[in-house]
Amino acid sequence: MSSAPRIRLATIWLDGCSGCHMSLLDTDERLIEIAPLIDLVYGPLVDLKEFPENVDVTLVEGAISSEQDLHHIRQVRARTRVLVSLGDCAVNGNVPAMRNKFGPQAVLKRAYLENAMPDGQIPREIIPQLLPVSRPVHELVPVDVFVPGCPPPADLIFSVLSELLAGKVPNPAAMFG
Ligand code: SF4
Repeated sequence: MSSAPRIRLATIWLDGCSGCHMSLLDTDERLIEIAPLIDLVYGPLVDLKEFPENVDVTLVEGAISSEQDLHHIRQVRARTRVLVSLGDCAVNGNVPAMRNKFGPQAVLKRAYLENAMPDGQIPREIIPQLLPVSRPVHELVPVDVFVPGCPPPADLIFSVLSELLAGKVPNPAAMFG
């Protein structure tokens, strides 16, 4: 086991489908290899409500589509040293951005009225307020590393993580070869 300080790693799931997190888990037993080098301090598998301070690396899945996403990504950026856009939704908007030409009201109407049972209603208090358009992460906050793919292949995610754990800044475009 390494005696080097562990990397404080976080992952966050914004407007995405969880497929990028699934691809991270698809690194399978290699996660066990790197586990001694990492403290997983936040993510869907961590029971913590508030994003912590002093995070070394955060993997961000999903686009920025709501006021809640915007609040989260600003807080994450302020508390993270190396911010990684993980997957096409974070990198370029991808699937969430397909709603951009229709506007939020049309999307809510389609989801909650046209595709709902009789007497459907658009919720006003439970769901986060949608932004006018869904945007990639780097349009709202600075991003240090871009990992494209829908989802990014597990091998690529592992290569990026390995470089980050070695204290390097990875270049995923070169890794695609
Ligand atoms: Fe899902 Fe693909 Fe978006 Fe990842 S990039 S959250 S797999 S739609």
